[in-house]
Amino acid sequence: MIHHRRLEGVVVKGNEEIKTDHLILAAGQSAEDTYGRLHKLGVQLEPKPFAIGFRVEHPQELIDAIQYGKWRGHPDLPPADYFLTARLPQMNRSVYTFCMCPGGSVIGCSSEERTIVTNGMSRYRRGSPYANSAVVVAVQCEDFDDTAPHPLCGLVFRRQWEEKAFVLGGENYFAPAQGLVDFMKDSEGTAVNRTSFAPGVKPAMLREALPLFAVEALRQGITEFDRKMRGFITEEATLIGVETRTSSPVRILRGPDSQSVNVSGLYPCGEGAGYAGGIISSALDGIKAAEKIAP
Ligand SMILES: Cc1cc2nc3c(=O)[nH]c(=O)nc-3n(C[C@H](O)[C@H](O)[C@H](O)COP(=O)(O)OP(=O)(O)OC[C@H]3O[C@@H](n4cnc5c(N)ncnc54)[C@H](O)[C@@H]3O)c2cc1C
Repeated sequence: MIHHRRLEGVVVKGNEEIKTDHLILAAGQSAEDTYGRLHKLGVQLEPKPFAIGFRVEHPQELIDAIQYGKWRGHPDLPPADYFLTARLPQMNRSVYTFCMCPGGSVIGCSSEERTIVTNGMSRYRRGSPYANSAVVVAVQCEDFDDTAPHPLCGLVFRRQWEEKAFVLGGENYFAPAQGLVDFMKDSEGTAVNRTSFAPGVKPAMLREALPLFAVEALRQGITEFDRKMRGFITEEATLIGVETRTSSPVRILRGPDSQSVNVSGLYPCGEGAGYAGGIISSALDGIKAAEKIAP
């Protein structure tokens, strides 16, 4: 509830009203409904750059062999990881790996029906035979809307590709997947390697799962990765799509006092508000907001 640019309370589940003049709003980046509601209420929002791409999965043994060479399999060595970046000045883009999960799994993280969103995780022992990582390209606001950008245009852009992945995956929550070599050559493979993704994957032409500029940038970036980490491009690697939740595509504008620039008493924070990415920075952002309210 907002009155004369001041927060006066919140309505919970449409029926319970709580009067308050301070609200820390940390709804995460999947709360599309909340961002739509804030926009309707006139809270100032703006689109922000983020990154999109796929998950790439290799056998962990192969990553160990590339990274450790003759020491691979040594009992004192953990499952190997990597972090790769490629700058593409001609395209004015960068491609990078993100959230690499040694001995982990690619997991489905859809927050809306009829969408596919991938992410990755490792369990404590990092004992799975697979290594996966996001491989993503940075996207700018001009990529979603080259006219006067609507504050929620990044969310619309993101949703479009998540829905496309659902269709390419067969509309049953299987993820679309393609051998990395086939993706690089743009050739249609009929089968893909076994993957860790549950419930399963469906072979697809992943060039259809992202905008063309992203596909071209990923191909160039992955070529560069293979120069830095020989053997990265291999028949044993699989791409699974789509990775779209690297960070929030929208920001709730706030001032140095951590309050919304046009609604006092509203403290947007964490990843969904566009000021953090990842567990620690989101948690710290929340602590800072609390300190502003009760120093
Ligand atoms: C599979 C996976 C693996 C990850 N691994 C890592 C990692 O290894 N390291 C790392 O740093 N980050 C990781 N992340 C990212 C990390 O989880 C987020 O960056 C972080 O959780 C963001 O914190 P947050 O508090 O801003 O939002 P969130 O953790 O998303 O919390 C938002 C909360 O608000 C709730 N909410 C939303 N709308 C409403 C509403 N209307 N009413 C009531 N409640 C609502 C949501 O249910 C949620 O509980 C991972 C993410 C995923 C999905």
